[in-house]
Amino acid sequence: MRPETGRVLLTGAGPGAVDLMTVRAMRAVQGAQALLYDALVPEEILALAPAACLRIQTGKRAGRASMKQETINRLMLRLARRGLAVVRLKGGDPSVFGRSGEERAFLEAHGVEVEVIPGVTAASAAAAQFGFPLTHRGEARRVAFATARVQDGSVVEGGWSALADPQTTVAPYMARDAAGPAAARLMAEGRSGATPALAIQNAGRPQARLVPTTLAGLGEATAQAAFDGPVLLVVGEAAAQARGYGAAAPARRSASARS
Ligand code: SAH
Repeated sequence: MRPETGRVLLTGAGPGAVDLMTVRAMRAVQGAQALLYDALVPEEILALAPAACLRIQTGKRAGRASMKQETINRLMLRLARRGLAVVRLKGGDPSVFGRSGEERAFLEAHGVEVEVIPGVTAASAAAAQFGFPLTHRGEARRVAFATARVQDGSVVEGGWSALADPQTTVAPYMARDAAGPAAARLMAEGRSGATPALAIQNAGRPQARLVPTTLAGLGEATAQAAFDGPVLLVVGEAAAQARGYGAAAPARRSASARS
């Protein structure tokens, strides 16, 4: 085996508020000599890095194209081999739709040591901010972090039948533009159209916005909201506990009043 050369910290920045970073993540950024960051990471977190730190944006923002994964991998490798303290900073938790598996595999295959620093994922931030649980005794015995790929207007990829259980809270990531097809698919798998559903933009940040609806209304409500930031969807009985849910989703309230 080759001796290890260099080290990369795959670091979760959390949902975007500095005080929702872990102390470990904050220290990593404060000690970074090279910082490769995704578009979801806000300015106030980047500002924690030392002035001399090399800052490289890897994700889309303000019209700039995002870097190819291969380019990011090579860049991390080069910087780590120079002996720099490399921090790969991602929104939320790097292990949730953060490509941490691919980046770790690549770096380790090239003899670079990798440490993952966890972060608060969007679903946890949304649940905390709007006062609903992701699991709830008797209502939600599991939670699924999911995503939806849409082709020709419907969701592709199997596995959705695993989400049919009414006691599963489903949290689709990267699904703002797939809300309609994802909801249709969940209903086709047997989830009731009256199931409480939420679309949450900018969870964990002061400017967060919650759109409460039902599974049947999720596609339209999400489209009408004209979101322009990161959006998380949440579907499941526990979502009805979100602050202001009942008042804003009257269809659901009368549906549950009848049962
Ligand atoms: N690793 C991240 C997820 C990256 S995938 C995490 O753990 O949160 C990017 C998707 O995450 C976005 O499309 C959106 O669905 C979700 N997301 C990330 N940050 C968010 C936030 N602050 N509010 C709402 N959704 C967010």
